[in-house]
Amino acid sequence: MERDASRVADDAIATARDLLREASQVVVLTGAGISAESGVPTFRGADGLWKTHRAEDLATPEAFARDPRLVWEWYGWRREVVAACAPNAAHHALAAAARERPGLRIITQNVDGLHAMAAGHDGAPPLELHGSLFRTQCTRCAASWDDRQPVDATSGATLPRCTECGALARPGVVWFGESLDPRVLDDAVRLASAADACLVVGTSAVVYPAAGLADLTRRAGGCVIEVNVTPTPLTSIAAVAIRGAAVSVIPSLFAMDSTPAPPTR
Ligand code: NAD
Ligand code: ZN
Repeated sequence: MERDASRVADDAIATARDLLREASQVVVLTGAGISAESGVPTFRGADGLWKTHRAEDLATPEAFARDPRLVWEWYGWRREVVAACAPNAAHHALAAAARERPGLRIITQNVDGLHAMAAGHDGAPPLELHGSLFRTQCTRCAASWDDRQPVDATSGATLPRCTECGALARPGVVWFGESLDPRVLDDAVRLASAADACLVVGTSAVVYPAAGLADLTRRAGGCVIEVNVTPTPLTSIAAVAIRGAAVSVIPSLFAMDSTPAPPTR
């Protein structure tokens, strides 16, 4: 039984590798699952609770309006957790593929900055659809800035303030119910629509518009490849769905990319 299951996975990996090798434009859409093995908690499932709060109840403009101190305390905790994490083999394999292949771009829903860390200063930066835990922005003016400082959420008076105008600052992330930065979304839509293949990794594919990007690739005639430990709403449109952890699957999808394809028979 086990042997059969691993043979099925091997076949799926071989098919996915061929599709990726044949594609000249590739988008890789990632979600929290790719960072799970780096120790970053995902939102859904057992990791999704902080104290007694559900992530979906804190990552909203309403929660911030009601209790900015509580929301900042949570983001301060998340900043600390993620600052202690490092990119894993999946982030590194994708960063290497992006360096080698100018037609490959990474689009992430993650706010942990691990793709950017794995990429270093080489090549095109990952598109961060939902912003970053390490950015802070003003609630009044247009200022936003890189910020790796610990958050002092002892009281409302100690919360981060705008460096330009002094107003209350907020985490530089996109909350549930908010719109994405239109420039970032336009870039993502353009890339997904032009891609020959969309590789979707570790996302539950329920948060829009991110989840719709794979469908743009498919409607334009490209293929969708999914890597996840469980099925998702995208599984039914995937040409190949690989069941497995990102850290073990992703490196094997790109491992031999620099060697020439075998001659066709
Ligand atoms: P999600 O938590 O909803 O889903 C995670 C998905 O990853 C699930 O489908 C799960 O089956 C899969 N998964 C778990 N472990 C895996 C592994 N080792 N290998 C492959 N797949 C694995 O996350 P989401 O779809 O990214 O959406 C949640 C939203 O929450 C996003 O908007 C994102 O901004 C935010 N978020 C970000 C982070 C982060 O930055 N790391 C963490 C939690 C939530
Ligand atoms: Zn300001």
